[in-house]
Amino acid sequence: MIKVLVNGACGRMGSEVVRTLEVEKDLQLIAAVDPQHAGGNLGMLTRTNYKDIPIYKNLNEALTICVPDVVIDFTTPSIIKESAKTVISKGIHMVIGTTGLTVEDREELSNMVDITGSHVLIAPNFSLGAVLLIKVSAEIAKYMPNTEIIELHHNHKYDAPSGTAKLTAEKIAEARILTAEKDNTKESLIGARGGKYHDITIHSVRLPGYVAHQEVLFGGHGETLTIKHDSLDRKSFMPGVMLAVKNIFKHPGLVYGLENYLE
Ligand code: NAD
Repeated sequence: MIKVLVNGACGRMGSEVVRTLEVEKDLQLIAAVDPQHAGGNLGMLTRTNYKDIPIYKNLNEALTICVPDVVIDFTTPSIIKESAKTVISKGIHMVIGTTGLTVEDREELSNMVDITGSHVLIAPNFSLGAVLLIKVSAEIAKYMPNTEIIELHHNHKYDAPSGTAKLTAEKIAEARILTAEKDNTKESLIGARGGKYHDITIHSVRLPGYVAHQEVLFGGHGETLTIKHDSLDRKSFMPGVMLAVKNIFKHPGLVYGLENYLE
């Protein structure tokens, strides 16, 4: 039985994780952390039978009282680095879904992990379809280097562009062999052409009604190719999160991207 603590347990993703854990035979939820609901009834808040699982106000408090095997984190970009340091300093494994960690943050955490022995997975997207979209995009980019990304999310998302769009751009940039053609468009409205990450243009749309969606557009001579992924429900992330928790023991160090866990 793997003992799990969920950080951000009462948020949109955290509560979906709690509901999923309830039906997982090999995983045992032992504690929750959420400052907005500390001391509250987790069962009522997440519509589960977890009424006796404590909700702590912060990770430090929780980790002095209980010792999970794995912490699952879906909180907020502003605190994720500190939370990761707290967990890693105790040698506990961590599955991070929260976005916002920079390349430098990942390097710093990776150095810590090498000392304490924690296994850490940072996955900007736990949906298996999105992971496959990234893999396929990198493959297409070898032959069609001209590409732009459009990502569309609900209007309560904290950050732009999404972590998934940035990871897609990184993988495309690594895979490209041919040089992309430059466009000479002059913006008459700042931002009209999106933002560049690893020299790839990303456009972020934020509107109510969306969950998490991404299109990768490739342009060639006289042809275009578009691939698209839609997460229609937060349930789409759960098989990936559960796969990560069950397999984290096999993957030492800090791993970035769920694709590294897919055999
Ligand atoms: P949310 O706002 O619904 O939930 C965040 C929760 O974290 C809230 O309940 C809040 O009270 C709690 N929180 C705030 N400060 C905290 C702290 N110091 N300690 C513990 N908990 C704290 O947000 P959400 O929609 O659930 O998204 C959470 C994160 O997950 C975001 O970064 C989002 O981009 C990311 N996300 C990742 C994936 C993925 O597949 N990797 C998918 C969806 C969302």
